[in-house]
Order: sequence, then structure tokens, then C-alpha cells
Amino acid sequence: ENLTKEDVLKLARDNDVQFVRLQFTDIFGVLKNVAITVKQLEKALDGELMFDGSSIEGFVRIEESDMYLKPDPSTFVIFPWRPQEGAVARLICDVYNPDGTPFSGCPRCTLKRVVAEAEELGYSVNVGPEAEFFLFMVDERGLPTTITHDKAGYFDLTPVDLGENARRDMVIALQDIGFEVEASHHEVAPGQHEIDFKYDDALTTADKIATFKFVVRTIAQRHGLHATFMPKPIFGIPGSGMHTHVSLFQGNENVFFDANDKRELSETAYHFIGGLLKHARSFCAITNPTINSYKRLVSGFEAPVYVAWSEKNRSPLLRIPARRGVGTRVEVRNPDPAANPYLALAVIIKAGIDGIKNKIMPPEPTDKNIYDLDAKERNELGIDNLPADLIEAVQELQGSKVVREALGEHLYKRFVDAKIMEWDKYRSQVHDWELQEYLTKF
Ligand code: GLU
Ligand code: MG
Ligand code: MG
Repeated sequence: ENLTKEDVLKLARDNDVQFVRLQFTDIFGVLKNVAITVKQLEKALDGELMFDGSSIEGFVRIEESDMYLKPDPSTFVIFPWRPQEGAVARLICDVYNPDGTPFSGCPRCTLKRVVAEAEELGYSVNVGPEAEFFLFMVDERGLPTTITHDKAGYFDLTPVDLGENARRDMVIALQDIGFEVEASHHEVAPGQHEIDFKYDDALTTADKIATFKFVVRTIAQRHGLHATFMPKPIFGIPGSGMHTHVSLFQGNENVFFDANDKRELSETAYHFIGGLLKHARSFCAITNPTINSYKRLVSGFEAPVYVAWSEKNRSPLLRIPARRGVGTRVEVRNPDPAANPYLALAVIIKAGIDGIKNKIMPPEPTDKNIYDLDAKERNELGIDNLPADLIEAVQELQGSKVVREALGEHLYKRFVDAKIMEWDKYRSQVHDWELQEYLTKF
């Protein structure tokens, strides 16, 4: 929806909005809020509201801390779960420098820059995500546990699916704020859910993913549950992914579709796939950004482990769903919902368009179940592993000119520094597993 400044001011007046939250994300994709009263709304819409960027993770140093928030009027929504009188609304913002240029640490501006690169080649990028999450019980003190409230499995119905009430309210709230929810269902693991909404242009989708996580958490809390997008909260059962469906359009035409090809895929589609495969190991640090992310990327839980593509099975990194025509798309299966949605889409798009620019042809698709192949067979087929852990992913990122360019120098440096620190903290810890394994053995 394309709203202007005037539309927003009128909507705020007509709906008795009292507070407006100005939202943006830090480099880790954590949603930040600056709440203003409606009296300051006009000034905010003019991009005149300043805030101190030094307190935001990955932003700037103290001595250069003045930042400006530039709200995007089309992101204006009124929270349906707040009182109707004295309503609360939000606007998603870009972060700008005092001199009026986009701040290089702003993830949303970064995605815009990469989308513009695709547009220069004549393409608009559509993205549809499938974010999975767990609903856990909270203890007497209100703290989250990892205990699930149900024993249901994939597509199970009530009465086993006790999370269904919460999920139904999430869907209602999402629809109230303009999401077109296409599917919502229980996932494979107990307590695990998925809500899918309709694809949109890349920037709108990234905004929606950020909003989605916040709505899901808010509504879960209202049901006395804790929603988590942590990729692998429980060992031995499936983790939560955020499969990302990507297609390129020229006008109304899906340029991934070519009726004359044996797979009905265009040259452009092959090249995009080639680029994704080439850069996958390097963009993992962004699409799978936590220590925990790599505990999901193991065999046996429908999460990808290998850099390969397929039309059929779900073990490789990329799957080409059967739909053709306008629905032709690539499903990127490694991202998880802990990723910063803006940066994740930026690196995926960048990798794909690098494939187009350099006409990178992918190898033959792998229609075998790769989980069943041994290392030698995989080697013969030229199938690489995804990084085994965060530090390997960061090292791959450090070697990648293309992903680094997608992020820009500022973000690249802050991100790598922060992730190396995270890794060092983790590797010096003594974990429960080690105690169980070694304490009595040695
Ligand atoms: N939960 C699986 C994952 O970690 C995906 C299951 C599915 O195919 O929807 O990616
Ligand atoms: Mg799923
Ligand atoms: Mg999927």
C-alpha cells in the first residue's frame, strides 16, 4: 500500500492514535523502537527526529552518534491488539546520517541498495518466506522453558494442537495489519508452528518478516506462551527454518520461466541458481547467524546440509518447487528465522544476480536423497557441505568479495567482529554435553 505523509497524518487523526513507535532493526535484526507521541508525528515523517545511535548494536561510535530516522509512510499500521481509543501505531524507518545520506550501518538501506542493483539489470525481486517457530510454556515466574504444550505433529488438528488458539489469533492479528496469510499449520515437531504469508517485493517482505516475528511473540505472550525463532531449541527434533522463495520479474512476467526448456527454467533462472550455489557457503554467516543455527543444519530433519539443488527432494540447499509460469521460483532452504531479514535477503539477491552477471551455470541437479550418499559419492558429484559451525561460516564470509560488497564495509566489519566475539565466548564455555561425555570417562 502506498501511503503518503498526508495519508498517515489523516489515518492517525481518524483512528485516535496517541503513540507511534518508530521501528528499525540493528545489524542482528533485533527490532528497535523509539516511541513518540502523535504530536511529533509530522516532524518524524519529515525525517527530523534524531536519536543516539551509539547505544544500538553495530551502529556507530559515541563521537558520531547523531542519527536520523526516516519513516517509510507506507509501513504505517495501527496495532489491532492495543486499545482502540488512544491507539498505538508504528512506522518502519531508514536510518540516516546528519548530512542526509543513508547510514551505511542501516540494514534496510542495505537491502534497498541491493534491490536497486537488481533493478538496474531490469529485474524486480519477489520473495516469500516460510518462518517456523516454537511455542513453549512459561514457568511460574513467567520465564520461558523449552517444554511444549502439545504432542501434535505435522498438520494435526485439535484437540491435540493446543497452540492452535494462539496461532489463530496470530493469523487474525497479521491479517488485521495487512498480511495475506496463505497457510498456517502445525510443523513436524511438538510445539512447532509455521505461518506463511503471500510473497511481495523484497523490501516489503523483509519489513513483514520483522513485523511477523514481533506479532507472533506479542500474541504468544497474551496466551501465556513464549514464541521463539531460535533455530534449534531442542536436540533430536527438527529445528526452525525460514525457507525463502525467490523469483525475478520483468513487469508481470516471471523471468525464471521458460516453456521451451526441459525443466521449464530460463537461462536467467539457471544463472541465479548458479550464483546462489557459488556463494552459499559465504552467505551462511548472514542467513544462519548464530552458534545455534548450525545445530539445525544437520542430517535427518529436513534442513539442508549440502550445497546442491533439486527439483524433488528436500535435503539440498535449493529446491525448485513444481509450480511454473508466474509461480516459478527458487526455494532457498538454509536461512533460519534468527537472521536479520534485510541482510539475509540482501545477500541472497546479491548472490543470485552475481550468477546472472557472470553467467554461472549450476551443475546438474541432485535428485537423490543426499543424506543417503557417502562422502565419496558426494565428492564425485561435486557436492560441498554447508559450513559446520559459525566460525567456519564467518571465515567463508571473510573470503567473499561478493557478500562483503552486498553488506558494505561498515556492516561487514561490525558483523564479522561481533560474530568472532560470539564464537570466542562460546568455545571457551564448558557445555553440559562435555560433562556428560568426559566427566566420568577420564
Ligand atoms: N523444519 C525444517 C527446517 O529446519 C523444514 C521443514 C519443512 O520442510 O517445512 O528447515
Ligand atoms: Mg515448514
Ligand atoms: Mg518449504
